[in-house]
Amino acid sequence: MTTSFHPPQRTLMGPGPSDINPRVLAAMARPTLGHLDPEFIRMMDEVKDLLRYAFQTKNEMTFAVSAPGSAGMECCFVNLVEPGDEVIVCQNGVFGGRMKENVERCGGTAIMVQDAWGEPVDPNKVEAALKNHPDTKVLAFVHAETSTGAQSDVKALTSLAQQYGCLSIADTVTSLGGIPLKVDEWAIDAVYSGSQKCLSCSPGLSPVSFGARAIEKIQARTSKVQSWFLDLQLVMSYWGGDGKRAYHHTAPINLLYGLHEALVILKDEGIESSWARHLRNHLALRAGFEAMGLSFVVREEFRLPQLNAVSVPEGIDEAAVRSALLNDYSIEIGAGLGAMAGRIWRIGLMGHSSTPKNVYACLGAMDAVLSAMNAPINTGVAVAEAKNALLP
Ligand code: PLP
Repeated sequence: MTTSFHPPQRTLMGPGPSDINPRVLAAMARPTLGHLDPEFIRMMDEVKDLLRYAFQTKNEMTFAVSAPGSAGMECCFVNLVEPGDEVIVCQNGVFGGRMKENVERCGGTAIMVQDAWGEPVDPNKVEAALKNHPDTKVLAFVHAETSTGAQSDVKALTSLAQQYGCLSIADTVTSLGGIPLKVDEWAIDAVYSGSQKCLSCSPGLSPVSFGARAIEKIQARTSKVQSWFLDLQLVMSYWGGDGKRAYHHTAPINLLYGLHEALVILKDEGIESSWARHLRNHLALRAGFEAMGLSFVVREEFRLPQLNAVSVPEGIDEAAVRSALLNDYSIEIGAGLGAMAGRIWRIGLMGHSSTPKNVYACLGAMDAVLSAMNAPINTGVAVAEAKNALLP
């Protein structure tokens, strides 16, 4: 007989989802309201305000798409790219490749600017591409490449977009809440994120925000947005700010309670404190791994504190290590993707998962598992080094 599903209690330290704060889980278990109930609408308005805080923006058009980060990505592209548009897409990992797919499915032409995996996007290459393609309408890039653990300089890229008269789309799925992201100050025209990384809510929502230049472009479109569900003009009849709410789709009501709570937690902590916490715990994890003799893939100045790409020692079966961590310690870490498969582990310290306790648990378990495999590591030192790094 099929019975209720009771998942094991894991510690989620992969590339996302991260562990969900019990306050967020409790919020999601509260009674479901009708999605046009005035109390629910009041909460949606608060979600919009809280997202403006998280994104550091005053953009009116700020809300959560009712679907995961990939839908936020698609929402930006289908609304901002028209057939025939040239779009410069920066690729330094998996997700730039997905942006290219989006551009092409919108009938646009993707001009690819490639950087090695593990490296940031090179603004010089982007500038050269903008010079070669003066009709470029949009510049798209990933702020925090989850596949490699590298971050790119958003401000340098949006400055180029402005200088060369095109719009910018930034993927901030892994950056929002974990590292500095300032949508208004950095003049990002369109931005999307995900609920399941540094916000530590359930997967399934994609916060987005569009600035005035992006909205002008959407209003000047001569072709219909090919996705009914993601057409911003239609979605905003539901999420709009004028108090009148018309049915567009049925919102994932309880999931939005969760996002609301996650954002209240972020605001209570303070966004700068959240960024500082992510950095502190990363430095402790790093101290532990380096003491063990393992190295980081990304150059220090471009490392993401929330996504740590660590090289697998020679001769070690990386998948066996992940299985041992999961089965014996209930800790999930991630594998490498694409060109990095088999060569790295991706260790997330995102949102509610970014704690000293998780740093110690992960290092202790790694030490035990790798020692049992006779890996060439310094054993018994990692946790103490991490603790030292966390001393005030
Ligand atoms: N962009 C980046 C940088 C991501 O890391 C992810 C997911 O890991 C996505 C986009 C897609 O988000 P989702 O899996 O929520 O659809």
